[in-house]
Amino acid sequence: MSSKQSVAEKGFFGEFGGSYVPDDLNKVLSYVAEKFEKYRNDPDFEQEFRYYLKEFVGRDNPLTFAGNLTEKIGGAKIYLKREDLNHTGAHKINNVIGQILLAKRMGVKRIVAETGAGQHGVATATACAMFGIPCTVYMGKLDTKRQKLNVFRMELLGAEVIPVENGQGRLKDAVDEALNDLVENQENTFYLLGSAVGPHPYPTMVKYFQAVISQESKRQIIEKEGKLPAAVVACVGGGSNAIGAFAHYIEENEVRLVGVEPTEASTITKGEPAVIHGFKCLTLLNEDGEPQPTYSIAAGLDYPGVGPEHSHLKTSGRAEYETVTGDEALEAFQELSKVEGIIPALESSHAVAQAIKLAKSLPKEDSIIVNLSGRGDKDVDQVFEMIQKQ
Ligand SMILES: *Cc1c(COP(=O)(O)O)cnc(C)c1O
Repeated sequence: MSSKQSVAEKGFFGEFGGSYVPDDLNKVLSYVAEKFEKYRNDPDFEQEFRYYLKEFVGRDNPLTFAGNLTEKIGGAKIYLKREDLNHTGAHKINNVIGQILLAKRMGVKRIVAETGAGQHGVATATACAMFGIPCTVYMGKLDTKRQKLNVFRMELLGAEVIPVENGQGRLKDAVDEALNDLVENQENTFYLLGSAVGPHPYPTMVKYFQAVISQESKRQIIEKEGKLPAAVVACVGGGSNAIGAFAHYIEENEVRLVGVEPTEASTITKGEPAVIHGFKCLTLLNEDGEPQPTYSIAAGLDYPGVGPEHSHLKTSGRAEYETVTGDEALEAFQELSKVEGIIPALESSHAVAQAIKLAKSLPKEDSIIVNLSGRGDKDVDQVFEMIQKQ
């Protein structure tokens, strides 16, 4: 580490996490951390968060028993936690609402965000429109070309989308640009990060806001089954839907926690510890020690690193991480659509594929919760193309 960098004391999960960023940025992030610590314990803040989750996001969402799929497989009961039914169609909005409420309490006048495929950008632009806060979204130039409709969606919602030409014109370049903006405009700007990654306090903060998923599912599964599930299964990109789906079960040692990565971006299962994007995590490195470009059919899972808490849950053995190929996910996408009448996001289809494998190996009295992180309408064009080619 150079003398210009320092490591936050908080925000470590075992050896992972921390804040490996230049001092000027670290100062801004420490201030955000301080305010987050203050408001997370404030009942008014909690009440306001709950209000918008209910009235704007549409929570609680159901824990749906996938009866047809369960019968077909003949093993443990499969339940779907329906994040796909949230406003904007995925879990990302939970975190966006939480961070905007924090930003408002901090008296901030504008929000900046990064986006890769556009999903986090759209969720952020949506909530900023509702709260009347100006919003700037940085997006790699290449990504803006591939995701024209998401760029248009964000603009419809009143956001300014800035294509980033630096580097590869991808997500990482967008993150760098958003961080520069934050440092330059720190008196009036809040950086709203989209997954359980990045320097402290983001992984802790994002988990806190996404934990509503497991808080609800735990109550719901007890109501339906009278006992805890045998396993909770969720897909892992940066790790926000998974950490939210796991949070209230981490202390329940009899509940298996299963994270699912694409075989093509198996950061946790094949990665090694390294510092990327300002924090330490398991990551895929190339021979030069640089983050290795990944590819997944699910844009949201296409990230070379993974959240620090998942890195720790893996190395400590508390959670299991499995890989599912693009082909297996594509099959699960079609299966859930046909059998249950629910079209899952391609990201979530990875979790569904793993849950099908797992259910077969467990007795009928057991239940499994699959976190259905998002709906698949956004992926229908892509799946159509992929099936044509088969
Ligand atoms: C963004 C996204 C993911 C991956 O992000 P995490 O932070 O790992 O949850 C998964 N599913 C859907 C539907 C997404 O939009």
